Amino acid sequence: MSTENILVYFNPNTVLSLKFMKKPPYCPPNRELQYVDETNLYYQMAKKYAEENSLDPAHKTGAVIVKNNLVIGEGANGSTFHVKNGCERKRQNIPTGQGYDLCEGCAPVNHAEQKAIADCLKQGNNPENADLYLYGHWWCCESCWGAMISAKIKNVYLVED
Ligand SMILES: [Zn+2]
Ligand SMILES: [Zn+2]
Repeated sequence: MSTENILVYFNPNTVLSLKFMKKPPYCPPNRELQYVDETNLYYQMAKKYAEENSLDPAHKTGAVIVKNNLVIGEGANGSTFHVKNGCERKRQNIPTGQGYDLCEGCAPVNHAEQKAIADCLKQGNNPENADLYLYGHWWCCESCWGAMISAKIKNVYLVED
């Protein structure tokens, strides 16, 4: 057992817990994913948004951005590209997190996190110090982390896989 897999997560919504986590395929230095219970209100809102708005029926993902207890942005993954063209990454059996440039439908700009940030900005809201809740995925890709860091999103919450 390697020590890098032992992480202590402090989740303000629940309790201090010691967990043996799977290491996400990508996580920027000095950042970490945080975990909530599936009953968390904002997680549930992200789930509902994904169920109603995702354009990727095989893998619905949703995100809500929350600041001062208000939802200031929402996003769901997918684009109409997959409906018309299928997925080039699936055809080539590309592993999760890789080859997003091979398929327009998988482009990170269509990921729930980046769609939620775009929605937030479009509504004239400021994502600085807001939290993002993600449904349907257990980690965030490098491109989405980049977008969240640029937008100064504070915490990323999801439910353990
Ligand atoms: Zn695709
Ligand atoms: Zn992403």
